[in-house]
Order: sequence, then structure tokens, then C-alpha cells
Amino acid sequence: MESDVHQISHGVYPVRYFLDRSQRILIGYLTGYTALMQEDTIFMKIIRREVPADIVYEDDDTIAFLDIKPIRIGHTLVVPKKISRNIFDMDDDTAAAFIKTIKKVARAVKETVRADGINIGINNERAAGQIVFHAHAHIIPRFLDDGLKVWGRGKDYSQGEAITISEKIRERIKQDADT
Ligand code: 5GP
Repeated sequence: MESDVHQISHGVYPVRYFLDRSQRILIGYLTGYTALMQEDTIFMKIIRREVPADIVYEDDDTIAFLDIKPIRIGHTLVVPKKISRNIFDMDDDTAAAFIKTIKKVARAVKETVRADGINIGINNERAAGQIVFHAHAHIIPRFLDDGLKVWGRGKDYSQGEAITISEKIRERIKQDADT
């Protein structure tokens, strides 16, 4: 019985080794490819001054410039210089610098265009409207009754739905904190 197991594992080992190695090569290739793609986004080109932009603020960690197709005059993008695809892979130090610049620029834009309010939006992944895969926040001036609909109207939870989903999210946050 023991020798049977031995024979099987001997036979399977090269296949496993091959699959494992191929998987690693593929993952390595995809990681390298993604890194190359991320170096090449339009925002990296703006950071490197290879493409012009109307820059309104810059420090060691972040840059802010006017969106080329503004939803409203003064629509500004805040971009962390350190590459992350979006909020999901952004490290905490970058996130801290990012929000600091968002606050600074949002105030300045609001005052400059005399807006009544500001929407701050971060699109994360294609389903959420992300087109440029280098993390960024939109700072969009708003005016009372300007007619811009950012989201549709919310709907009510069904019986017990809020309890179930909030419990699952709490559990997920706990799991992430434990790892
Ligand atoms: P996303 O949908 O990814 O959140 O938004 C990307 C934003 O980048 C869009 O609002 C788009 O107008 C803006 N954008 C794309 N290309 C350029 C560019 O070359 N220069 C500037 N300033 N903004 C850009």
C-alpha cells in the first residue's frame, strides 16, 4: 500500500513541478507586464512631464491637475505619485498623503470657483467607471440645483438584509485585520 502511494507521488511530482513552475513564470510575466503598463499610464506621463497638464499643486508624494474633460469648470484630479492601480492596492502612507492633498485641493477649488459644494470621487475598477488605472480622485465643484446626478436614488433593504450584509462586512474586516 505504501509503495503504491510512493509510485503515484513519483509519477505526479514532475507534472506538479511543471505546473508550479509554469504558474510562477506566468505570474511573474503578468506582474512584470502590469508594472510596465502602470509605468505607462497617462498620469505617469504627466508626473514625468512627458505630457502637458494644467498642474495646480505638487509635492513629493502627490500631484493635482485639471481634468482634460471637466464635468464642471475647475474639475481637478489628485494623483499619488507612487503607483497603485486604485484604492485596493494603495499602501497606508500613500493613502495618508493622498487624502491630505485631496483636502487641500478641494478647499482651494471650492473657493476659487465659488462652488456651493464639492464631490470627491474615486473610481475603483472598470465596473465603477475607472478608465485610467493609476489611482486618482476627482474633485468636482457643485452648485445648488446644478442638476448633476451623481448616483441614482437609493432603495430600501428587504427584511433582515441589512443585518446579514453588515455582519458579513464586519467579519471580512476582522479577517483582514487578523492577517
Ligand atoms: P476615471 O474614469 O479613470 O476615474 O477618470 C480618468 C479621468 O482622467 C477622466 O475624467 C479623464 O477626462 C481624465 N484624463 C484622461 N486623459 C487625460 C489627460 O491626458 N490629461 C488630463 N488632464 N486628464 C485626463
